[in-house]
Amino acid sequence: MKRISLLGSTGSIGRNTLRIASEFRDRFEIGYLACGKNHVELIRQARKFKPIAVAIYDQSRYKIVKEELASENIEVLGGQEGINELASRSDIDIVVNAIVGSKGLEPTYHCVRKGIALALSNKESIVMAGEIIMGIVKKRGVSLRPIDSEHSAIWQCLLGEDKERVKRIILTGSGGPFRKTPKERFDSITPKEALRHPTWRMGSKITIDSATLMNKGLEVIEAKWLFDMEPDKIDVVIHPQSIVHSLVEFVDGSVKAQLGIPDMKLPIQFALSYPERLPRTWERLNLEIIKELTFEEPDIERFPCLRLAFEALRIGGNAPAILNVANENAVYAFLESKIKFSQIPMLIEKALTHFAVIKNPVIEEILETEKEVKEYIRSLI
Ligand code: NDP
Repeated sequence: MKRISLLGSTGSIGRNTLRIASEFRDRFEIGYLACGKNHVELIRQARKFKPIAVAIYDQSRYKIVKEELASENIEVLGGQEGINELASRSDIDIVVNAIVGSKGLEPTYHCVRKGIALALSNKESIVMAGEIIMGIVKKRGVSLRPIDSEHSAIWQCLLGEDKERVKRIILTGSGGPFRKTPKERFDSITPKEALRHPTWRMGSKITIDSATLMNKGLEVIEAKWLFDMEPDKIDVVIHPQSIVHSLVEFVDGSVKAQLGIPDMKLPIQFALSYPERLPRTWERLNLEIIKELTFEEPDIERFPCLRLAFEALRIGGNAPAILNVANENAVYAFLESKIKFSQIPMLIEKALTHFAVIKNPVIEEILETEKEVKEYIRSLI
């Protein structure tokens, strides 16, 4: 029986993780749950899964959760400290970090420092502090398992292979809802239109990232750190059907791919059950129904976020953290209709040129970068 600490339990990945835990009750136990501010859902989940403790980031809702769970014998924690604690308690077998955005960094850091296995969905923590996190992962021998479907695909393709024999990795992306939209229309794109993803159902921030192609940019940075791969060995290809989740090309020209229907339950389940594969109980891939798999080049002229991510990766230091925080704050401003869709990359570019780069940042400097960039983007908006 594996005891899971699920951070971000009220979100899209969080709820899918709970579905898997419900399906394999003899294998997984929900030991801890944590979320940002959705106390209603957290309380509901706590009553159903009976964890040892829960944590809510938003301190103003801590009291309600505590009162509601008083009769359940469930400990309640609050704030960043509470979340960090549920990422690092010694009785956890695996942490699932499904928190959205830069707030996921601290729990990732605390988890790996404790040497606990980590199923990572929060790509932002690796983007912001890849070198620091992977340094600890290697030193402590942490089992780090990607949940992002592309990275799960690459991980699966690399199992049993010699990494030195990899020529390149190829990340696929759907291209988002504006794959064919002319650039002139970008100024008038509404949040509602941008939230209509063609193939995946996800939280709002990653859905906008998919529409700008920043999601692919963040994934390039994530891939660099997870698989220790130089940026010129990472390619991106647009694949609108989202069936081929990513590919690895080897030195002999052989290319391995991992396929599946676009459903995050598969990569979550594999991250939890690894090295075992558990049976699938939901819809399976049927290529006869899919019929067509197509691939095309990404258009970095219309989608400059992808170019900006490669640039930040080449600059190094805390540049990817600047990129990530600028992006996240620009995305939330767009969702609140405070800026146009086309202004998201403009704000990110401004932030990248505004801040002096710290070459080998320590974790405190990354967290400071987060605060400064957030303030800077807010001042521009
Ligand atoms: P959602 O927006 O659906 O959920 C986000 C979760 O994070 C919620 O549970 C939210 O709690 C919680 N949260 C937000 N802020 C905090 C905080 N400060 N402390 C603790 N918890 C917090 O996002 P997704 O599930 O879509 O995405 C989660 C992560 O997984 C992202 O990094 C995303 O890029 C990545 N990912 C997601 C995929 C998907 O299919 N959804 C695919 C691949 C990667 P609350 O609701 O209470 O505010």
